[in-house]
Parts: sequence; structure tokens; C-alpha cells
Amino acid sequence: MSKLNFADFYQEYLDLLGAYQLALSTMYVDQNTIAPKKGAFNANKAMSILSSQAFAIENNPETIAKIREYASTLEDGSLEKQEITIRLEEIADSENIPADVYRRFVQTRNDSETIWHRAKENNDYSEFRNILEDLMNQQIDLLKYSPRFHQDNAYDVLLDTYEKGTDQKFYDEFFSVIKKELIPLIHQVQNAKQIDTTPIEISIDEKRQAEFADKLMEFMQADPQRVYLSTTEHPFTDFLGKDDVRITTHYYPDTFLSAILSTVHEYGHALFGLQIDEDFYGTTLANNIGSGAHESQSRFLENHIGRSEAFWKALYPSIVESFPEFKDLTPEEITRLINVSVPGLVRTEADELTYPLHILIRYEIEKMMADKTLDYDHLPEIWADKYEEYLGVRPNTDAKGVLQDMHWSAGNIGYFPTYALGSAYAAQLYEAMAKEINVEEELAKGNFTAITDWLKNNVQHYGASKSMKEIVEEVSGKPFDPTIYTNYLKDKYSKLYDLK
Ligand SMILES: [Zn+2]
Repeated sequence: MSKLNFADFYQEYLDLLGAYQLALSTMYVDQNTIAPKKGAFNANKAMSILSSQAFAIENNPETIAKIREYASTLEDGSLEKQEITIRLEEIADSENIPADVYRRFVQTRNDSETIWHRAKENNDYSEFRNILEDLMNQQIDLLKYSPRFHQDNAYDVLLDTYEKGTDQKFYDEFFSVIKKELIPLIHQVQNAKQIDTTPIEISIDEKRQAEFADKLMEFMQADPQRVYLSTTEHPFTDFLGKDDVRITTHYYPDTFLSAILSTVHEYGHALFGLQIDEDFYGTTLANNIGSGAHESQSRFLENHIGRSEAFWKALYPSIVESFPEFKDLTPEEITRLINVSVPGLVRTEADELTYPLHILIRYEIEKMMADKTLDYDHLPEIWADKYEEYLGVRPNTDAKGVLQDMHWSAGNIGYFPTYALGSAYAAQLYEAMAKEINVEEELAKGNFTAITDWLKNNVQHYGASKSMKEIVEEVSGKPFDPTIYTNYLKDKYSKLYDLK
């Protein structure tokens, strides 16, 4: 018997919404992988028709009233009640927004994405400036229709939306640890003897990389009956159903390691979808996982497994077979080369050590956006000053500066911090796992599922029924502690760069 037993009307509601969602996700994946470009206009039109239908079904006032009534009959603490509580919280955030206010917001958001693309291409922030301010202010003003909003907590509400149980106070403390512990370490690494990366600067064509990606998926024991890898412009993962997850990657001829690590990263996201308690599929317990929680799983696999020496040792025979160019490098040398840390301007190209500082910069700017104190005229300078302060580098173009990420153009404030938080959660989870499993030994045996089973049994099967903060505490036996993350980085980079 299923763990979740809903009233018929509610199960039908979930199934209907699930059918729309499957259609829309399938179209989204298709558009972003293999669909011919010229078909986009027609597909976009069909998608907007289907999504407004789904929205109307989901937010039908009569249905909502029925769900509220039904919720009151459910036992507190039951999974059914938990599922519906998550849904009703989401509904409460949006149901009082006047239709014209929401329509204007959606219109501005669509325009903003188009304008951002153009501004980035033209390397000109001034084209984007006005719509960015307008969109951010509209996004913040929408919060006043939510029962969670009380005057000064706009950013708190936004942060909690992306990752349950977090607010500005929580992140302020988190980032103060990051600053205190990592900035001196980054300086030490910069002053140490630098690692020569020329041995991996070899061009490898897309076809050979794709062949290797299949071996990589096999090495990670990914089930080809349930997960499918294809290529795209900006890698993402999409969840189509219980046994159907699509992951994507991008093959760059000159940086072939980037596709390997991004495939490992996306497979981490995929696993979360594949290893949730089976009965949660199609419900908010599967669909409403926070982005910090998700990122904790992708970064776990990417940083703690994919960047480890044990991983490269185990993968070494296939690497040399596919890329004989590397036969003169040992697995130790490859590991060193993929972990090189050099402060740069672009978040998505950042190494593991400097990455959280890219996020800190965005966090500090978002706080000003949320309380409407940001000087949008001078945003590029504010951005550049922070890069100079924290990373010692200064962008001289908008494209490599404030225009590099798409998040703000889509009205997402509060999303960025989850990337850094996810990495820190991952470090604490890894510490707990390493007490139970000899990772090196399991990888050497080719037993990748020892790792993924641990993640399933300790973390992923909960879906959204527990917050990642709770899971981390439960699994490690202590409250979330960001110094576990910073100590892990200190340890790793001290060894890598021979620091005192
Ligand atoms: Zn990710």
C-alpha cells in the first residue's frame, strides 16, 4: 500500500497537474536539446497555453477551498497533511496577488530576459539597467500579498522560498564564516608556488568527449533505463517522472574536464530525483525540494567525489584508453590540475575554493536590492569594487561582470546564496559518510553505488518531507556548522599548495 492515501478528488487533481507538468517538461527539454531553432516560436506558444491552463487548474478558487477543507480533516504530522501544507503555503503566497499586477510582472520578466540577452551580447549594462530595477522592485512588491511578509523581511521571505528554514540572519552568520576563513586562505594560495596547467590544455573534439561521457555514466552506475544524457548550451537537469530524468552537458573542445565535472554535478541532481521515496512522486514532497538541498547533492558528487584523487584513480584506465594524450600524467597529477585555484571573474568557471566568494558578492548586492537601497546607476562599479575587494580581480566589461548570470534577469533574488550553502551542506554530509564508508576502497572496487546508496538512505529518500538543515543535523549528529566546510577547504588546499 502506498504511504500516501489521498481523497479521490485530490489524487485526481495531482494526476491532472502531473500530466500537464510532464508535457511541459518534455517540451522544455526538447527545446533546450535537439529541437530545431526555427520551431521555437510555435513551441513557446503551445507551452504558454498549456502552462496557463495548468495554472488555472492549480489555482481554481473552488478547488483551493475544497483542499483547505480537506486539509483540516487530516491528522497533524501525517505525510498527507505535510504534502498539502506545503501546497497551501505556496498557494497563500500567490492567491491574493491581483491578476493585473501579476500579468504586469510576468510581462516585465519576459521582456527582461530578452533585454538581458541583448545587453550581454552588446556588453552594455545601461540597456538593462531600467528593466532590472523595475523587475526587482515588482518582485519585492509582490511579497506584500504573502502572509509571510511583515514590513522589513522581504529578503527573509525570498531566501526561505528557495531554501526552507533560512533567512538573512542565518546567511549573514554563514557568510561571515566564509569571509573570515576563506579570504586569508585564498591570499595564501595566490602567494604560493603556482601549478602549471599546460599539461591539461589539450584540445579534444566533441565526439571523443561524448564517447567518454558514456563510460563515465557507466562508471557511476547510472541506470540507462531511468536517466538519459544529452547536450545543451547551459547544462541543467529535468525530472520527467519516477523513472525518467534527463541530464545535459556541454562539450568544450579546449576544456574537456569541464564536461566531466558538469556531468557528475548534474548526475548528483538526477540522483535526488531518482532516489526519493517512491510514493512521493507527483506530490509536493517530491517537487518542492529547495535549491540549497538540491545543490548539496550535486556539489557532493562534483566536489567530494568528482574532484577526489580516488575518483581519478578509479577512472584512470578509461581516461587513458579514451585520451592517450594523458598517459604521461598520473592520477595524482590530474587531481592536482583539476583542483587548481585561480581567482577569476566568472562564477561558472570558478574553482571550488574561490566559488563561495562569487556568491558572497551577489548576496551582498541582493540585500540592497531587497531593501531597495541599491544604487542601480552604479551597479557595475559596486560589482567591480566587490570583486576587487574579495578576489583581487576587476572586470573591465559588463558581460564578464554584472551581466554574466541570468538569474536576476528572471527576477530571481535569493537563489544565489543556495549555491554556497549547498556546498557547505555537502561537506558536512561527506564527513558523516566517510565515517561509515571507505570511499577510496569502494571507488577502487568500482562500487559507485556504495556512495549513491548512502545518499539515498540517509538523505534523498526524504524528498521535501524534511529540510536539508534537519537532514544534515540528523545524519551528522550535530547542528549545521559551516566551519566543517571551510576546514575541509583549508585542509585540501594546504596540501595541494604546500601551505604551512
Ligand atoms: Zn546545480
